Amino acid sequence: MIDIKSLNFDELNNTVNALNIPKFRTNQIYSWLHEKGVFSFDEMSNLSKELRERLKKNYFIPVVDIEEKYISKIDETIKYLFRLYDGEYVEAVIMKYKYGYTICISSQVGCKMGCKFCASTLAGFKRNLLPAEMEGQIHKAQQDLGIRISHIVLMGIGEPLDNYDNVVKFLRTVNDDRGLNISLRDITLSTCGIVPKIRDLMDEGMPITLTLSLHAPNDEIRSRTMPINDKWGIEEVINACKAYAEKTGRRVSFEYTLISGVNDSKECAVELSSRLKGFPCHVNLIPVNDVKERNNKPSDKKAIKQFQETLCSLGVNATTRRTLGSDINASCGQLRRRKNEVISK
Ligand code: SAH
Repeated sequence: MIDIKSLNFDELNNTVNALNIPKFRTNQIYSWLHEKGVFSFDEMSNLSKELRERLKKNYFIPVVDIEEKYISKIDETIKYLFRLYDGEYVEAVIMKYKYGYTICISSQVGCKMGCKFCASTLAGFKRNLLPAEMEGQIHKAQQDLGIRISHIVLMGIGEPLDNYDNVVKFLRTVNDDRGLNISLRDITLSTCGIVPKIRDLMDEGMPITLTLSLHAPNDEIRSRTMPINDKWGIEEVINACKAYAEKTGRRVSFEYTLISGVNDSKECAVELSSRLKGFPCHVNLIPVNDVKERNNKPSDKKAIKQFQETLCSLGVNATTRRTLGSDINASCGQLRRRKNEVISK
């Protein structure tokens, strides 16, 4: 069976032609799959029953179903636990901003990267998400909420650059004006720092925003929390970000999760500023969200304020991220983890 929703327009056209289905049908099928985002052939009401049956015999549409849904009482952030066609789970979060709705989607089931503070990687890696499953998270949320989502962040479960080909295909599909028609400038991809893939991405000609999960000012501290740093050190990864910014003209952001006593001292802020000085970037400070298996304490308000002020006074643009959905376990990996724990009990 072929996943019909992960085919791009030309691939769909070729396969439809090979089945002796008239060409104009490609537009109709593509629109059902990507503009309207249906999850079954029976909903394709302008196709004959006979054609729908033929499609069913050859193809499948990977479903994304709502297993659980949580709405924050504090800020209306919505979190979904989605069930995939093979029974795996991933998470997505919808945030409402002045400029529209943003969805934070997952790119893999689980994660291989092993970052010490993160819940997504605790039970290891299961599989890559198909392009259709990344897109399906958006369709499902839009249908459930009756809204249009205008912005995407790839910051849910998984390392997007470890699922490179599917992610790039997904990005081109959501940008297609025959489908969701989301501007590439309104898409942000967050990576832990797979340097060769950052360099590949900058050659794709896609003006998406790149965010690097930095979390430390030097190799010693970064390697303690992020195993990827042993492969590509801090200088190499920052240089790749600089090259990305130069080539794409897009400003790069750095995520810096503040963990009490680990990376939140004034010295760390000074060292970080010396690394980033002169590079037009933005640092997002985030108090670490304590994951129960991890036992990392978030920095207190005073330490966060001091860290931010030190960076700013040394010429580095830094803000502290507002925590959204704190009452619904909105940070990535926590829901899937809990669900799998319940199942295995
Ligand atoms: N793999 C990608 C994207 C997924 S994680 C990456 O590493 O960027 C999205 C962001 O959440 C990353 O910056 C990650 O480091 C951060 N993060 C993970 N666990 C966290 C936690 N417990 N508290 C705060 N931020 C966390």
